[in-house]
Amino acid sequence: MRIDILTLFPEMFQSPFSVGIFKRAIDQKLVSVNTHNIRDYTRDTHHTVDDYAYGGGAGMILKPEPIFEAVESMKSDIYSKEGADALPILLLTPQGRLFTQEVTHELSRYRHIILICGRYEGVDERVRQHLVTDEISIGDYVLSGGELAAMVVVDAVVRLLPGVLGSEASPLDDSHTTGLLEYPQYTRPAAYRGWSVPQVLLSGNHAQIAKWRREWSILRTLERRPELLDKANLSLEEKQLIDGRKQS
Ligand code: SAM
Repeated sequence: MRIDILTLFPEMFQSPFSVGIFKRAIDQKLVSVNTHNIRDYTRDTHHTVDDYAYGGGAGMILKPEPIFEAVESMKSDIYSKEGADALPILLLTPQGRLFTQEVTHELSRYRHIILICGRYEGVDERVRQHLVTDEISIGDYVLSGGELAAMVVVDAVVRLLPGVLGSEASPLDDSHTTGLLEYPQYTRPAAYRGWSVPQVLLSGNHAQIAKWRREWSILRTLERRPELLDKANLSLEEKQLIDGRKQS
């Protein structure tokens, strides 16, 4: 997958993408991440990227021209017109659709995505209307820039790409993938300060372990995020487990 990020602060992306599974994915050429400074696409001598809002009000707005030109030059470098039409151009904004694991899976199916990071009071409305194909919010709070949001999106998407996690880990059991939160996890030692690992996990009985994990996934979701259960795919027996727990 190729990821292009438009930002006023490309240097912010150096550290997160230079460690762990991300670095490995880049080294193995499973993903390439390119940052582009929006300022490089300005045409005036002062390299102006922002201006006052029409109608007044505090704060500056990112101008449309450098953002349009950056995206257009990227598209014409890489694609014929037809190929570029399917390319997702995502604006990070607190007004966008909420970024969930479902959106992560959706984005991980593309070969190429472009992310636009806003700053100041945001971007000129014409960028939303005539350039971007989707708007993404990472939560109901306001950050000072889209860079941290872009890192969250890129991290969550890249770990789903085939080969990135390797055989030692699978994203399939992760919280929010099955619609449930993940079951409790333990590692050695089997007893620590008198707190023991549940016996079933030491039994070697894979069927029993899978049953225990599924039940705990359901119970943990019931306890912490009960609203998720409305959409989860549950058997009759599992619904009865929930009803029993609610009554106790
Ligand atoms: N005035 C804008 C509004 O009320 O919608 C907020 C601008 S915010 C201070 C500056 C930039 O940070 C935004 O353009 C966006 O790129 C980014 N940003 C802030 N909060 C975000 C969030 N929850 N999700 C994604 N991006 C966010």
